[in-house]
Amino acid sequence: MKNIYVLAEHRKGMLRDITWEAIAAGRKLSSELGAELTCILLASQPNTMSENLSSEGVRVKVVNDPIFETMNSEAIIKVLKEVLTPSGSYVLLMGASNAILDFAPGVSVALDAALATDCFSVETREGKLFASRQIYSYKINSLVSFKDSERVVLTLRAGSFPFTTSGGETKGAIENVACPVDSTSLKKRFVKYVEAEKGDVDISSADIIVSIGRGVGDEPDLDMFKSLADSVGGVLACSRPIVDKNLLPKYHQVGTSGVEVKPKLYLALGISGAFQHLGGIKGSPLLVAINKDAKAPIFRVANYGIVGDLNEIVPLLEEKIRSLKG
Ligand SMILES: Cc1cc2nc3c(=O)[nH]c(=O)nc-3n(C[C@H](O)[C@H](O)[C@H](O)COP(=O)(O)OP(=O)(O)OC[C@H]3O[C@@H](n4cnc5c(N)ncnc54)[C@H](O)[C@@H]3O)c2cc1C
Repeated sequence: MKNIYVLAEHRKGMLRDITWEAIAAGRKLSSELGAELTCILLASQPNTMSENLSSEGVRVKVVNDPIFETMNSEAIIKVLKEVLTPSGSYVLLMGASNAILDFAPGVSVALDAALATDCFSVETREGKLFASRQIYSYKINSLVSFKDSERVVLTLRAGSFPFTTSGGETKGAIENVACPVDSTSLKKRFVKYVEAEKGDVDISSADIIVSIGRGVGDEPDLDMFKSLADSVGGVLACSRPIVDKNLLPKYHQVGTSGVEVKPKLYLALGISGAFQHLGGIKGSPLLVAINKDAKAPIFRVANYGIVGDLNEIVPLLEEKIRSLKG
């Protein structure tokens, strides 16, 4: 593989964090394979983003077209095909984000490339590329290779490839490429952003969060959890199944398709610890988990864990907290 490409993901004119993580993965592969790293930026107002990338020493190929105000999947597939086809063999890295889920398979088909999604690690052995991903509902890690593949597309799991700044010593070259497709002929159009419903609580700015998951059962005593949240001066949040069951409104949902939170204390009650949930918890809070399954993945990331039935433990915990507060 002579080239490593990263597709920049952006929203409202700002690069998403996953772009920097993909660059971190790209740097590792380019140094191991002796390949050139280039970031592809498809945007309608690319200048600030391309400068940011360049100031990290990243070479940038920019396609500037109004259609790229958002991550338009139809346009991205067509443009990547035109821009990358002359490159021969390469690895294309993208985030395993909700936006990119929409077009990663289409990109791999258009490029006639092997595809591995949601990789949490990439490596090379004797010049060959390997990626690690999880299978069977995240219970087993699998290491995959790409037999006879000249081109490989990998989507990368957020939070798996920490980015460190290069210090801005070397600037990457910025190359502007004319948009190779007539974007007016595309069928898919961006209409508008729809802001998430604003609720009575803003979990995104809360310091203490008591978060409930499917483990609370089908007909939970929500007052019990609200009361625990009150006792610690926190707010009630949840995982996605709780919203799906209409037990709490969407603005309580923590995760990659919910709200990003940055609390100091996160109490996870009956939450298994799926990466889509953990992906919404930023800033390394003190994480305390209660789960009846000692092997639940949440215990791999929790600072403190209690193995047991939350219906028994939560009232005892609240009683203890209130007694300590006097
Ligand atoms: C594209 C996409 C986006 C997603 N976005 C999000 C998102 O933003 N946020 C999100 O949360 N999820 C999201 N998900 C869903 C995610 O993959 C998981 O399915 C979800 O997080 C699981 O929620 P949970 O932990 O509450 O439930 P489960 O995984 O079912 O876990 C329930 C846990 O409760 C424990 N338990 C059961 N009974 C008890 C008891 N009595 N006492 C103590 N413990 C008990 C069990 O041992 C288990 O570990 C997304 C999925 C996809 C595909």
